[in-house]
Amino acid sequence: MSPDSVLSQAKDAPGDSGPGETFDVAIVGAGPGGMTAAIYCSRARLATVVLERNTAGGIMAVTERVENYPGFPEGISGYELAEKMKLQASQFGADLREITTVAAIDRQPDGSWTVVTDDERIHARAVILAPGVEARKLGVPGEAEFFGRGVSYCATCDGPLYRDKKVAVIGGGDSAVEEGLFLAKFATDVYVIHRRDELRAQKIAQERAFANPRMHFLWNAQLRRIAGETRVEGVDYQDVNDKTVTSLPVDGVFFYVGQIPNTAFLQGLVDLNEAGYILTDERLMTSQPGLFALGDARAGRIKQIAWAVGEGALAAIEAEKYLDVLSCPGSPTQ
Ligand code: NAP
Repeated sequence: MSPDSVLSQAKDAPGDSGPGETFDVAIVGAGPGGMTAAIYCSRARLATVVLERNTAGGIMAVTERVENYPGFPEGISGYELAEKMKLQASQFGADLREITTVAAIDRQPDGSWTVVTDDERIHARAVILAPGVEARKLGVPGEAEFFGRGVSYCATCDGPLYRDKKVAVIGGGDSAVEEGLFLAKFATDVYVIHRRDELRAQKIAQERAFANPRMHFLWNAQLRRIAGETRVEGVDYQDVNDKTVTSLPVDGVFFYVGQIPNTAFLQGLVDLNEAGYILTDERLMTSQPGLFALGDARAGRIKQIAWAVGEGALAAIEAEKYLDVLSCPGSPTQ
């Protein structure tokens, strides 16, 4: 069956989906997984649209240096890698629409899907969900108040503002340590405030951080408050053992205390786990036929670019198979 017939069948399909463009596959999210799915789908000659609420690349695009993605032995900036993926998908014909927020996805009577964005309706026979995650907020006093005035969740974006200044980094995972090392290129002192006495980050990042004289570690310390008049002037942290509270003067606070999945718009549509991550089967199909999910927002333990890329390929191949079966004469409407 030719891909064109998939698309024409989608265009002709009955249903009350209303006006709007029709594609074979709509991909929600243009991080590395979504972009890989776009490359595979468009290269398979499926009419493919990618809807991204920010700009392509997701968290990868604001990662200063990616050095564990194969093919780049010198490492590559996350932004540059995102640009390359975007170019590759576009070259095969994927239609990438940035600054487009998906508000809802509705199932049509014929089994196809309508993706409702802030300014259009898009119809697709299959949808690949790759909405990614965003930084978790800790919720301490001063965090919301000083956001953009010393509080940040993005070292790549804001790090250069802290040249010759002092900053605190909250958390002990890969993000905290890697982004802390990036901040140490600018700041004279980077204080990593971590609630335990050992880091969760990968060993290679830990070794670099411990060897960097600008990096300081405050163990068993819980951030309690961010202090300042009009912008951040310091933090108060508490020793989790003896409960003493210490004030530390800093000019900026960078939070890396984990992530939450961008799945609010999927509530009630697909099965999510208790933390809001999307549940799928081994084909990456969600609880809804024709809706696939991948990447950091999918329930799974590994959050890596290489892993998201693999899931992008798998979701695209499975979506293509799904469309083929759906287009066979006599196939049941799902
Ligand atoms: P993460 O691995 O979940 O680490 C979050 C950190 O925040 C942990 O150290 C945690 O402490 C701390 N934390 C959580 N809640 C807290 C609270 N209420 N108060 C104080 N501290 C709190 O998150 P991440 O570093 O953003 O990484 C997310 C995923 O992406 C991980 O799977 C990571 O491996 C991956 N990643 C990989 C790379 C890479 O491969 N180069 C780079 C970045 C991220 P505890 O340790 O005590 O739980």
